Amino acid sequence: MNHITMNKGFELVFASRNKGKYNEIKRMMPRNINLLSLNDLNFIGDIKETGETLKQNAKIKSDFIFNNFGVNCFADDTGLEIDSLNGMPGVYSARFAGKTCNSNENIEKVWKLLAGYENTDAKFKSILSLNINGKTVFFEGKIDGKIIFNKRGTNGFGYDSIFVPNGYNKTFAELNLVEKNQISHRSEALKRLIIFLDKQKYL
Ligand code: IMP
Repeated sequence: MNHITMNKGFELVFASRNKGKYNEIKRMMPRNINLLSLNDLNFIGDIKETGETLKQNAKIKSDFIFNNFGVNCFADDTGLEIDSLNGMPGVYSARFAGKTCNSNENIEKVWKLLAGYENTDAKFKSILSLNINGKTVFFEGKIDGKIIFNKRGTNGFGYDSIFVPNGYNKTFAELNLVEKNQISHRSEALKRLIIFLDKQKYL
């Protein structure tokens, strides 16, 4: 196992380049986990997400980091599943409008396909793949809500500005980090991961 830092605590790399995800996760991590990023590993490459499910893609990412750097790590793969679009964009959420497209273009495509549907029910689903000493464990979280046809709010990332969680009248992008973390798909999965680490006496 590499010793990346001299900090105390259980070292765990979050295998993601997504700053939005990293900020959410960092905020929720107990102090006795020393959360490291891909930058801490000096890894500048890309991990190709070639899986057909969130679970496969999450595992591809955590396996890649464990196999190449020998560090305990976890990865997230998240999809927005829209009922009227038969669960699309799902596993293709990041590149829905094309490989090089940004969030705005992905949102435009969602709006285009969803136009005319009364039912805009959707859910975010996150899978976390934790690789500890070469063994993988998965944790899932989800949240139901609705897609709206105008962007609201400037917090968060991705599809946050068009997703209103059920029971709220604000979009995820109108909630602050703490509020989003109380209810989000990713935070639900992460809470499960933290409970697991605690039970396994890693913390
Ligand atoms: P991936 O998990 O990195 O493949 O991301 C899937 C896509 O969903 C990306 O376009 C993200 O921006 C978006 N996404 C992932 N998590 C969230 C979230 O919590 N809110 C809004 N969009 C998200």
